[in-house]
Amino acid sequence: MSIEKIVSLCKRRGFIFQSSEIYGGFGAIYDYGPLGISLKNNISQLWWKEMTQLHENIVGLDSGILMHPKVWEASGHIGAFNDPLVDCKECKARYRADELFEGELGDGDWMKIQCPKCGTTGNLTEPRQFNLMFKTHVGPIEEDSNIAYLRPETAQGIYVNYLLTQNAMRLKVPFGIAQIGKAFRNEIVARNFIFRTREFEQMEMQYFVKPGDDDESMKDWKAKRIKFYDQLGIDSKKLRFHEHGPNELAHYAKEAWDIEFEFPFGWSEIEGIHNRTDYDLARHQESSGKKMEIFDQQKNDRFLPFIIETSAGLNRMMLAVLSDAYWNDEENNRIVMKFHPKISPITAVVCPLVKKDGLPELGREVMDILKPHFKVIYDQQGSIGKRYYRQDEAGTPYGITVDHQSVEDRTVTLRDRDTQVQKRISIDNLVNAINDSMEAY
Ligand code: ATP
Repeated sequence: MSIEKIVSLCKRRGFIFQSSEIYGGFGAIYDYGPLGISLKNNISQLWWKEMTQLHENIVGLDSGILMHPKVWEASGHIGAFNDPLVDCKECKARYRADELFEGELGDGDWMKIQCPKCGTTGNLTEPRQFNLMFKTHVGPIEEDSNIAYLRPETAQGIYVNYLLTQNAMRLKVPFGIAQIGKAFRNEIVARNFIFRTREFEQMEMQYFVKPGDDDESMKDWKAKRIKFYDQLGIDSKKLRFHEHGPNELAHYAKEAWDIEFEFPFGWSEIEGIHNRTDYDLARHQESSGKKMEIFDQQKNDRFLPFIIETSAGLNRMMLAVLSDAYWNDEENNRIVMKFHPKISPITAVVCPLVKKDGLPELGREVMDILKPHFKVIYDQQGSIGKRYYRQDEAGTPYGITVDHQSVEDRTVTLRDRDTQVQKRISIDNLVNAINDSMEAY
């Protein structure tokens, strides 16, 4: 299955549109249509619940996208958040050097590498370091003294607020702070649809532990995070861990693991789990001159906690869900998006069989019963088969048909998207039946 099929379905069915399409699109930015925002929200709500509701010692935060520029100096992003850029002088193709060649190359060795696009050798430039942060200016005058950056990760907003949060919520280590928000990276080569974009959303949780407890905590979070993907209904065979080797480790990390998914274009990272040590807090302490240590009253002890970070890309997670759900049901000549019912953009469609004989009125009554519980839509257009196939493509797990028997005995049929099996169910029992089926999925 190719990524193009997903791109085309996403556009056709209102999941994802190219930004500013009427102007030819813009710089690997995407907009989320009605079904896309619903799916994305459902995924992020599961994550938020998992972190801040199911863990008593994890709290939420929403920090600004723009922050004091000193934050990025201290964190090392101004100096080191670079990718090596290589150009082909012949065909003008642009690459990230680390994607063309792994490991170290000596001076001039680039001249021996072949350009994958035009096939010539000797035309690649030496790699130049390119900082990925977007710059802007705060205030009306554009000068160097008021440069600000769009955050390239949400983590720093957590670090600079961590003591305020800890005090306000009276937290004791170990504790975590979770945040969902936009991040921006001026990627050299943005590609693979919403996999690598210049504006994206991160779901990050920073877990503060005693130094020495970090290795154990890392193990614990690796196990918890991979398990989370069950809730999204993702096939576990398409998930794996990848450990960062010495050449891959970020400037702040002691140990790092990626959770990778087998996308149509190959295995790639969805989420990173990093042991960031006390690197960030130590840097902020030094740079701001403010103590960043935790005070343990009982032991009269002060220390800088170590941080285990779990950092997931919401858009990448959604692309994994979309890729995993796509099913070409050749036997029945239909495309089905087999989303887990708990994250489907629409839970059920209500279809009166015909537009007369009191069926639309009863259909509307069924809508009113279901609306407080689920996202439901009403559809009375076209043949019943066509209506169902439209919803199969949108990933709607349940189809409810109101027919002539419904008016007599207040029962409806409930159709299962994947098996297409229909059961007769009393209207009064519909909410329970749907809930039970979602739980059993
Ligand atoms: P990559 O190696 O793919 O550039 P990364 O290792 O730099 O990613 P992290 O800095 O660990 O990524 O960021 C955490 C998560 O944020 C990633 O696992 C990914 O899901 C998401 N992410 C990072 N960059 C992008 C991007 N350009 N577009 C979409 N999601 C991204």
